[in-house]
Amino acid sequence: MSDNALLGIKYFMANDTLSLPPQQLDWFGLAQDVLDGGKVSRESALAILKSHDDELLDVVAAAHRIRRKHFGKTVQLYFLVNAKSGLCPEDCGYCSQSKLSQAPIEKYRMLSVEQLLDGAKVAAERGSKTYCIVISGRAPNEREMTAVEQIVPRVKEQFNLKICACLGLLSPQQAARLKSCGVDRVNHNLNTSREHYDDICSTHTYQDRLDTLHHVRDAGLELCSGGIIGMGETHEDLVSMAFELSELQVESIPLNFLHAIEGTPLEKQVGVTPQQCLRSLCMMRFVNPSSELRIAGGREKHLRSLQPLGLYVANSIFVGDYLTTKGQAPESDYQMIADMGFDVTRCDEVGACDTEC
Ligand code: SF4
Repeated sequence: MSDNALLGIKYFMANDTLSLPPQQLDWFGLAQDVLDGGKVSRESALAILKSHDDELLDVVAAAHRIRRKHFGKTVQLYFLVNAKSGLCPEDCGYCSQSKLSQAPIEKYRMLSVEQLLDGAKVAAERGSKTYCIVISGRAPNEREMTAVEQIVPRVKEQFNLKICACLGLLSPQQAARLKSCGVDRVNHNLNTSREHYDDICSTHTYQDRLDTLHHVRDAGLELCSGGIIGMGETHEDLVSMAFELSELQVESIPLNFLHAIEGTPLEKQVGVTPQQCLRSLCMMRFVNPSSELRIAGGREKHLRSLQPLGLYVANSIFVGDYLTTKGQAPESDYQMIADMGFDVTRCDEVGACDTEC
């Protein structure tokens, strides 16, 4: 435990978990404890979410120390292709592709091999490290599984991209097939806490999602799993999700901010503020210090002019459009990254900080 953190502050220790009264938190001391291998408590994670706007820069700077240790000045870019759009029988309240959605989106079945290769070419040209192949639906059918098995080796051979597949619920056998064909990682978001899950979806359960993540891990694949902020959840829900992701030791966490799309059940949901977005990113960084943290959908809409501050905490963004909503121009992202003195990397050996943080 750092001397900094101890200065004038009373600690309560439970097992190896650090616990502090929220109003007395020393953010830099807390960061130092994480850098030293400690784990923040739920209470401290909640305190981050509840911290005052006046403390925001201190919280961001403390989270940045953790980001800098694990990822240096690097930023990883991800590129999404919506390989099958709409036509989904599930009822996820946030999703424009669900059976309940009236949103006027494009609907199409699985893209052709050529179209998916074209997408991979764009991903490579934009400096992405990973090509994320996403399909709508509860779970992939045999035709969709076969299409993924055909395209993945070709993308890897031609463009040297990592592949993340987001195909819905997976059986152990399907997860093993994805591993065999060269998929590196599977995305399957928890989205929110176990307690809040039934409020946003009734056609599958939180446990279904957890089961898929376990099948993916058992198959030897990396895990990408995150959530959506702004769906009516409590601070406790967000913290529960962060700790669940920590338990799962996910390699990558995309944090979305609900883009309330007209025609979806959550269309009237009030958006989160840029400050809340930052606090959520900071909390996720403290609880999952070495996981990739990606500012995902809703970045432009909700972080707005504070996007650069988000990158002091997260180390990754999507470049280009999201599944059914537009992202900002890639040139704006490159400019933002350069202005901050950060570097885009496609390398796995991301630059951990070589100076004393
Ligand atoms: S999030 Fe996925 S499973 Fe849920 S409605 Fe949208 S496409 Fe279907």
